[in-house]
Amino acid sequence: MAWYRRSKLGFDAISSYFTSKLTSPKSTIRNSNQLSKLTCSAYYPLKVSKVSVDRSLNSRLYATSNRYYYVDSRQVRHFKPRGYRRWFDNPKNVFIAVLVGFGIGLTVYFGNVETIPYTKRRHLVLLSKNLERTIGESRFKNMKVGLKGKILHAMHPESVRVRLISKDIIEALQRGLKKEQGKNEVLNDMWVDQSREKGKEKGGKSATGHLEGLNWEVLIVNDHVVNAFCLPGGKIVVFTGLLEHFRTDEEIATIIGHEVAHAVARHAAEQITKNLWFTIGQLILYQFVMPDLVNTMSNLLLKLPFSRRMEIEADYIGLLLMASAGYDPRVAPKVFEKLGQVSGDSALRDYLSTHPSGKRRSKLLSEASVMHEAVAIYREAMVGREIDGFFL
Ligand SMILES: [Zn+2]
Repeated sequence: MAWYRRSKLGFDAISSYFTSKLTSPKSTIRNSNQLSKLTCSAYYPLKVSKVSVDRSLNSRLYATSNRYYYVDSRQVRHFKPRGYRRWFDNPKNVFIAVLVGFGIGLTVYFGNVETIPYTKRRHLVLLSKNLERTIGESRFKNMKVGLKGKILHAMHPESVRVRLISKDIIEALQRGLKKEQGKNEVLNDMWVDQSREKGKEKGGKSATGHLEGLNWEVLIVNDHVVNAFCLPGGKIVVFTGLLEHFRTDEEIATIIGHEVAHAVARHAAEQITKNLWFTIGQLILYQFVMPDLVNTMSNLLLKLPFSRRMEIEADYIGLLLMASAGYDPRVAPKVFEKLGQVSGDSALRDYLSTHPSGKRRSKLLSEASVMHEAVAIYREAMVGREIDGFFL
């Protein structure tokens, strides 16, 4: 409710400003109506005292509407503010307010902090699972309408192919969510390593509730744009422009695995939480022109770019997913390098604006211990052994 109080204060200040315009020193009082406007001004107490000679006309207004001073029963003026301002004059009250605020903050934080599967990073997500899902589904629905005529038929060979690869990845994800792996691997990337160690020490359970009962859908859009994403709620969208640049199944599996990993780690909901003030501001602005709250939210919020840390996280989780699905994870670094090489291509800009790629990312991924882990999973998958619980 802090934002509400702030906007209320802002509104009070603006209304006071306009009221003060009405009661400039040159103006004369013509009727009691004007007098009431003048006495309501919060920022011109001296002017009020000038006109207070007419107190007999409206003594009740004089005694009750000025915020800067008031007259007590002995007709003594007090310049102390009244109401909540007066309440905050007492340091004890301020201390209590800070303490209560801190307590609420802690409750909200610990009530909404979650552990991401595999990396064990703990992040704050204020968006409920249902709202996140609704936002994703709403955006997907809007996209279907917006891209009408461009969506490939479900039986189109490209549609069938991408859908089968996505199916492999999703099944690998569902197997991977079954149980926790006992191994305690060491990774090259410091923060992932530390985060996993810490997570295991604390015994924190990874948050996977948002992945249960999802109705996964795959949409292939016939457009030269090189882009792909996975909306919350299990909605995968791939543009044919991407398929033109990345032709092998392994390459497509790398991209889909990475996008699905963003959904696994609830990165969109985390971004929304991080940009809460921006979000609220935008919503207040937009609600005057777009009353449909969920549509507005989904259109605005799912455009927020992910951070570099989130990208690395999605790379790692995606690598394990593709390996478990039976796609060689050693292809992944080459895919990200290729994405970096073709960065001059304007069609790629959409994807690269949110997915920084290049040699560095490729090198990091190929050197990380997660690659050894992924290759081991891939080999087991290839000999037909069931892989489960690999990243919890
Ligand atoms: Zn990404």
